[in-house]
Amino acid sequence: MIYPIVKYGQPILERAAEPVTEFNAELEKLVADMFETMYAARGVGLAAPQIGISKRLCVIDESGGENPSARLVLVNPEIVSTEGEQVQEEGCLSLPDFRANTPRPLRATVRGQDVHGKEITLTGEGLLARAFCHEIDHLNGILFIQRLSRLKRDSIKRRVKKLVKAGEW
Ligand SMILES: [Zn+2]
Repeated sequence: MIYPIVKYGQPILERAAEPVTEFNAELEKLVADMFETMYAARGVGLAAPQIGISKRLCVIDESGGENPSARLVLVNPEIVSTEGEQVQEEGCLSLPDFRANTPRPLRATVRGQDVHGKEITLTGEGLLARAFCHEIDHLNGILFIQRLSRLKRDSIKRRVKKLVKAGEW
């Protein structure tokens, strides 16, 4: 099932999500739906709050569906260490058509659980490190525009406001 994606402005995107405590068929179905929703929207990552579900869960696929082994599920993830810095263009399915150069660590190590509740630790570099940080930010109620300068952030907020007024958001 493809969920509608919640856009910037909805309070669920700006509050911390609840830990996942039950690892069952319902969670597996939700993960499958999140992948389907992410691929339909051509994203490389999707966090549960973006489909209106305030749970600490995200899916990532930096291959965009090309490579099955690139499919990652992170449940209750936390960044445990980071290294270096990179600044690349970043976007978000909840802020369609807005992109900005966003600073992120070059490498990031994440600890969490898989869909069955098994403990996992993953290290990503480049785009994957960026995706880890972006999606885990979502679980903490943080959007990428909060990683930008105030000037850039305010400019995006103003443009969104105009779109809202025009009924185009
Ligand atoms: Zn996002």
